[in-house]
Amino acid sequence: MRRPAAPGAEPAPTGTPILAVRDLRKHFPLRGGWLGGSRGVVHAVDGVSFSIARGETLSLVGESGCGKSTVGKAVLRLFDLTDGQVLLDGQRIDTMPAATLRPLRRRMQVVFQDPFSSLNPRMRVRDALAEPIRNFGLAPTREALDRRLFELMDTVRLPRDALNRWPHEFSGGQRQRIGIARALAAEPDLLICDEAVSALDVSVKAQIVNLLGDLQARLGLALLFISHDLAVVEHMTHRVAVMYLGQIVELAPRRAIFASPRHPYTEALLSAVPVPQPGAARQRIILRGDVPSPINPPAGCRFHTRCPYAFDRCRVEVPVLAPTDPGHLAACHLHDRPAAENPLRPAQIHANGSQLT
Ligand code: SF4
Repeated sequence: MRRPAAPGAEPAPTGTPILAVRDLRKHFPLRGGWLGGSRGVVHAVDGVSFSIARGETLSLVGESGCGKSTVGKAVLRLFDLTDGQVLLDGQRIDTMPAATLRPLRRRMQVVFQDPFSSLNPRMRVRDALAEPIRNFGLAPTREALDRRLFELMDTVRLPRDALNRWPHEFSGGQRQRIGIARALAAEPDLLICDEAVSALDVSVKAQIVNLLGDLQARLGLALLFISHDLAVVEHMTHRVAVMYLGQIVELAPRRAIFASPRHPYTEALLSAVPVPQPGAARQRIILRGDVPSPINPPAGCRFHTRCPYAFDRCRVEVPVLAPTDPGHLAACHLHDRPAAENPLRPAQIHANGSQLT
């Protein structure tokens, strides 16, 4: 898989971000208690903030159930927020009435894990792609519509005659290309890819990731890439936000997070990513226990029940997401300790042998 264009040149988040999420919370009440009352509240997302610049890819990663897909759905306004704000190009959309929001929906499109479930089996590809173009009034004539459909097939590298076929006639990878074409048909500024390559074989996965990278470079799309697969994320993102139990615990540029994780949870996730060089090995960190229930998250640091470095303060005080290095944020009390007592910040040694930190 190719890395994003101009590696190292993380797009500077200049101007108004295309997407800004501020202190997003989504709690789901659990029904079914005594006399139909509440049995508690699922804290699916609890105070998540990030922004995405035009042309940038931000990957939201973490184990299943950490709340990353809920963030994607909240951005798409598939439900109302419990609290917080979502801004598209500087405009608050979380409180916008449905009629005002409708034309703005064109600017945010989604690609799901299973394209088969998002394509109508009784619609030929032509009709599936033409639907958003017509709905948003993007092709004034029949000729313009045909031109646009051909262009979309070329863009996702499918033959033009595939327009006349049915979804069941395609392989999983081809169906995902159709799903991407349908999302692009609306001419969006932001693409939300929710586990978009998780169900694909390794080689097909690489093709779709490369396609998304090319589209981004060519069309200047912003991508919110939601995935549990850090091996994929490493090849296609500018920045990474790591989620644990409804909160972002680390947020940093790709190279910084993969080279020097500053949160024990990220360190453990990365230890499970296969190393591409033959013979090279990473020491796998096995986390103890299961992810706690989001109905009753642990006090203090939510990760303390599994963290190999937890100490007394972690059990009572919530760590805040704060800078540890330029552009690198982590929520961990270890960074308040002297470097010699911080296992996530190995001491740097001068060429003359003296210790730098
Ligand atoms: Fe581990 Fe404590 Fe850091 Fe939480 S705050 S990640 S428990 S060391």
